[in-house]
Amino acid sequence: MAKGIFFSMPAYGHVNPTLAVVAELVRRGNSIIYYSTEEFQPRIEKTGSIFRNYQTSISFDHHQIDHNTFRLSTRLLMVTQEMIPALIEQLIKDDPDYIIYDTMSPWGKYLASILNIPSIRSIPIFLFDRKTLLSMKSDDIQSFIQTGYQNQHEVVKFRSIADHLHKTYGIPKPNFLDMYFDKDDLNIVYTSGMLVPNASAYDDSFKFVGPSLTSENDVDKFWDTSIPVIYISLGTIFNDQLGFYRKCFEAFADLDYQIVISVGSKVNTLELGTPPNNFIVKHTVPQFEILKHASLFISHGGMNSTHEALYHGVPLLLYPQALDQYLLASRVEELGAGKIIKGKEMVPSLLRAMALDILERQAYQESAREISHSLRHCSGYKGAVDAIENYYQSTRQFSISEGSIEN
Ligand code: UDP
Repeated sequence: MAKGIFFSMPAYGHVNPTLAVVAELVRRGNSIIYYSTEEFQPRIEKTGSIFRNYQTSISFDHHQIDHNTFRLSTRLLMVTQEMIPALIEQLIKDDPDYIIYDTMSPWGKYLASILNIPSIRSIPIFLFDRKTLLSMKSDDIQSFIQTGYQNQHEVVKFRSIADHLHKTYGIPKPNFLDMYFDKDDLNIVYTSGMLVPNASAYDDSFKFVGPSLTSENDVDKFWDTSIPVIYISLGTIFNDQLGFYRKCFEAFADLDYQIVISVGSKVNTLELGTPPNNFIVKHTVPQFEILKHASLFISHGGMNSTHEALYHGVPLLLYPQALDQYLLASRVEELGAGKIIKGKEMVPSLLRAMALDILERQAYQESAREISHSLRHCSGYKGAVDAIENYYQSTRQFSISEGSIEN
């Protein structure tokens, strides 16, 4: 029985797509230890894997994920530096056959390299290459690049930890954008090739397995399923935005649609004010189910949210909040399944006009349905597990044959 260690990023958008993969690994006889935080323990244990809590004084879960990639990368490297000594000791005791690590959990890669353990990268964020990033002309990408220059102190701190890790453990020097551009022997990407810009440039180590989506049973359908729905959510991280939700109230108050908003756990709904009659405001909703009934999703363009919508053929009005969301949103726009509304354009009149335009033009729905087809025909979590098992077997054969040469 093979033993795997999974180093996750403790955020819903990162944990959720991996759960079906881990459950399938366990079902096929693998023993998996899954590192995360207590918030995710119940759903991790449901997969049959063993939950283990990250031990660190620096919080890095979804409450700390930052719009600013430079600060985020530095924080993740600080976490790496703090956790690595104890994790080395633990891994020596656990003696795993392979490590799977989230693309935003760089310690997984370093530990695998230090201890010479086969490793697999799990990529639940949007995949893009340098060429795609540099070809983006949007103001938002420009502002991202400027943010980098304005955060020189983060750059200095990052480089100093990177030097330390490189010298102490002999690992290649970490880079700021590793979470986007690095690769491993096997890279599991939870999307279809159709959604990835420049997909043909990736080699065979990249497996586009599609989104790993699961329907919940016994969902409380609190909305009226006979009235068309516009669903609004900014995900679970960048969702503390009273101003945005109030603009939605103003934009859609008299529309013949039922508007369901998920505002997340941080917003005080009393502070938000009374919503118009055609609105239902909740802290959290069964999103995957609602999307089955939605005509439009106004979303931040999170990887999971976007895939859940497109899987159901629902077009999107995208209001991206972070770098990979801008890029995914641009790709959706390029493929004709949605439009982007930028921060500085976010006024109720434009929000309404853009939403109505998407609802009224068939072409958006047709493009969304084409992408849906591509997502539904990926190999899914079973394909991911086939790839992991094939990779692990190939590393075993390699080490056995190496052993026989030595003997
Ligand atoms: N989600 C949900 N109910 C809600 C809001 C969000 O189930 O009320 C889920 C959503 O279906 C998706 C995840 O939370 O699977 C959000 O992930 P995404 O990558 O879109 O955004 P993030 O939260 O990481 O920014």
